[in-house]
Formats: sequence, C-alpha cells, structure tokens
Amino acid sequence: MLSGAMAIATPHTFATPPTKTATDKEIVVTVQKLRATFESGVTRPAEWRLNQLRQLYRMIEDEEAKILAALKSDLGKCSAEGFIGETNMVMGEVKLMLKSLRGWMRTRTVSAPLTVQPAKAKIYPEPLGVALIIAPWNYPFQLAASPLAGALAAGNCAIVKPSEVAPATSAVFAELCKKYLDQSAVAVIEGGVAETTTLLEQRFDHIFYTGNGAVGRIVMAAAAKHLTPVVLELGGKSPCIVDRDVNLDVAVRRIAWGKFFNAGQTCVAPDYVLVHETVKKPFLDKLAEVVRDFYGDDPQQSPDYTRIVNARHHKRLSALLDSGKTFIGGKTDADDRYIAPTVLTDVSPDSPVMKEEIFGPILPVLTIASLDEAVRFVNDRDKPLALYVFSNDADRAQTVIDQTSSGGGCVNDCVMHLAPHELPFGGVGPSGMGAYHGKSSFDCFTHMKSVLHKPFMLDAPLRYPPYTDDKMKWVKRLS
Ligand code: NAD
Repeated sequence: MLSGAMAIATPHTFATPPTKTATDKEIVVTVQKLRATFESGVTRPAEWRLNQLRQLYRMIEDEEAKILAALKSDLGKCSAEGFIGETNMVMGEVKLMLKSLRGWMRTRTVSAPLTVQPAKAKIYPEPLGVALIIAPWNYPFQLAASPLAGALAAGNCAIVKPSEVAPATSAVFAELCKKYLDQSAVAVIEGGVAETTTLLEQRFDHIFYTGNGAVGRIVMAAAAKHLTPVVLELGGKSPCIVDRDVNLDVAVRRIAWGKFFNAGQTCVAPDYVLVHETVKKPFLDKLAEVVRDFYGDDPQQSPDYTRIVNARHHKRLSALLDSGKTFIGGKTDADDRYIAPTVLTDVSPDSPVMKEEIFGPILPVLTIASLDEAVRFVNDRDKPLALYVFSNDADRAQTVIDQTSSGGGCVNDCVMHLAPHELPFGGVGPSGMGAYHGKSSFDCFTHMKSVLHKPFMLDAPLRYPPYTDDKMKWVKRLS
C-alpha cells in the first residue's frame, strides 16, 4: 500500500490554492439540505451510522494512495508519515467505533431516589443535529476525517470545511466524501476565510474547530450568536522536560521523532526542551547523532523529511532561527520550502522563538537546575496542549504531572498519547476546550438526554401544597 503511494507521489511538487469554492447561496442551501436530512430521522438508527463508518473505512482503504499523494503534494509528506499520522490513525479509530457503537448508543438506566419512586431514570444518547467541522492544514486528512467519524457515529449530519492551506488534500477529501458517504448528510465545503465566515453565520448544532487560537476566538464568538456548543482544538507551546537521571539514548530518539515528524508541524510536538544542566551536553550530542541517524548528513535529501506548508510559514520560521545559537541545522531553502531539523541553544525565554508556538522543525533547548524550576517555568505560561517529562525516577516524573496543567502528555515519550483511542484528546485553557477520539468523539457530538419515566399509580401527595409540617417531616425522612 505504501509503495503504491510512493510511486504516485511526485516529490516537492506543491499544490496550488483551491479553485472550487462555494458561493454564499450554495452554503445556505447545503445547510438547509442537511437540516432536512437530519429532521427526517434517517441518520439516527445504528444501521445508518455503522454503514457510514464502514464507507469511511472503505474510502481510506481503497483510496489510500490518492490521499497519500495529496499529502505529499501539500506538505512533501512521505507516505510513511502520511500512513502513521493520518490514514492509519483514522482507520484505527473507525474500527473501534464499528466495534463499540451499539454499546455507546444504548440507553442507560440509573438509580432514582425513593422520593420519586416508582420511576425509572434513563439517559438517552441523542445526536445533536447538523455539525460544522473546520479543519487545519498540518494533518489535513486526519483532522477532517477523525471528527467526521465522531459526528457520523453520533448520528449527525456534518459539513466539513478542510483547510485551504492544504489544497490537494482538501480537493481529494471533497471528492472522496462525495463518492463514498451519504451526500444528503455529509457535505464538504472547500475554501478559506470567506467561505468559513459564511458558514459561521449559519446556525449549527455543534461546531468542531481545529486550528490556532486567534481563529478559535472568531469561531466561538460566531457560535455564541446561536448558542451553539463548540469544541476548540487549539495549540500552544508544549514543553519537554528532561530530568538529570534519564535514559538519554531512548529519550533523545523519542524527542527527536516527536519534534521532527511532519517537520515539527504537529500541534503536540515538543515545542522546546528544558534539560537538566547536568545532562545538557550529552543530551545535545546525542540529539545531533540521532538527527543524523534519522535523516542523514543532508536532511534535504532524505525521502522521510517533510516540507514547510507554504512560503508564509517558511518566512515566519526562518525569522525564528536568529533566536539563539545554532547547535545543529539552520539551513533553509525557500524554493524547496525546506528548513533543516534545527536545535538552538543559548535561547532567552524572552526571545521570539519562545514567544509563539513554533510549529516547525526548530527546537530550542533551555537549561534548568531542578524540576521545581521547570514546573515554575511551565506554570508561568499558558497551559499547553501537551507536556512531556523524561526521567528514570517515576516519582519525580509524577510530581511534574501532578504540579502542572496541560491538555495531556506523556511520561518518557512524546506525541504517543494520541495512539490509544480511549484517551480523550483535547486542550485546557488557551490550548482548547472539549475533547475527542474514540468514545469521547461519540460523546462530543451527542446530547445525553435525561428522562424520568413515571407510571400514574402511587401519586404520593407529599410534594403538593399545602406544605404542612407533617408532609415536610416525611419529605426530609425520605430524602
Ligand atoms: P489553518 O490556517 O488551516 O486554519 C484552520 C481553519 O480555520 C482553516 O479551515 C481555515 O480556513 C479557517 N480559518 C482561517 N482563518 C479564518 C478566519 N479568519 N475566520 C474563519 N475561519 C478561518 O490552520 P492553523 O490555524 O494555522 O493551524 C495551526 C494551529 O492549529 C496551531 O496552533 C496548532 O497547534 C493548532 N492545531 C491544533 C490541533 C489540535 O488537535 N489541538 C491539531 C492541529 C493543529
């Protein structure tokens, strides 16, 4: 499968911006069409949901080569990273949904107190309605398809707006959804700010947005007008703390992989390292060795190294290279949108590279004298999307986890907390709100409707006025 995709992909032929976008009228009509479908009830039964999920799975299985080629065209992403970080992740999640959906959909009966007896208290998971999913460019397939799987599993209709910054994937996603999914319930609207703005003016029952916090605020303000619930999957600077006592061989490999996978354009990539001063030198030396092992002496020639998504981000990242002393890397090539895997030392916490989410292959390494100092450094800043701590001492690592707040993270690894589908994935504070993946995806597109079922018999008069002392005595006794 992978080799097939490799044959199709043309290295470094970047896609051009989308041409096929929707008019305002088409957007309004699409929302109306999906609402009519939802109101018909067709999307509610388990059979419809399972069928759509099977179709989504088939779509990826049958068209993987096409998807991987689009990712190559947008980001110069190799098929292995496309498979690991995009298609395979969605397929794994869909598989779990196919296995578990009937159980998740089941009505649950919970206990009811004596005061309401006889009665049954039930929770009915019901779909929210028509969802809007807005996706970013860095994992342009996965971050459109994975929330869509959640919306379908929960019995919703959905409009997906893929990122215009990854135009080839956006076009392929639109084409494939049309071919494989129920077109009366799923629509893909391609385009950028104009189309998203029109979409956000419509009333949705749920908005699921992945991207930067500035647009997150726009999305939330638009949602507030209709009191539409939102999930915001945002970013931030995810710290990576390396303790004095640590297995450097493994730690450095995992950190380098987490950072340079997708050329650092990963929301949960370690943004910067806080390394204990006693291991700084061996840590850096090992990092240089590992990067060479991964990508060779000239990473630009490596078939496994991704490119920067566009000229704007290339320029932004190139400007950050001056924030410290270049320990390794530093080479840039604007025509090839290439930035070498770069490690910066002597970085001031006030320098530009430490002021914004890097979202590229530049790793500042700062020194700490203790884990307490690392915890203070993290807690003085916005709550990150992920936090990583590496230590041979499980108690010391646990202390860092307990004393900091982040969307999620790993002890002795990076990024891999996204692998277990049962772990809810989301941010906290400025890194986002709400969570998804696996059952959490079902929950995030579902309303848990609580209903108390009562028979007409035994209508105890206790709750009705006049509230006599005698009645109140019984109410208190039964409560
Ligand atoms: P992007 O530029 O593709 O924007 C995201 C979406 O917002 C796109 O669909 C785009 O069309 C839309 N958009 C852009 N400007 C808009 C506007 N003014 N009004 C309405 N819609 C608009 O992607 P990005 O924001 O550059 O993505 C990178 C950011 O996303 C990083 O901060 C990263 O950490 C974060 N991210 C988070 C996750 C996560 O799961 N938490 C995953 C990936 C990326």
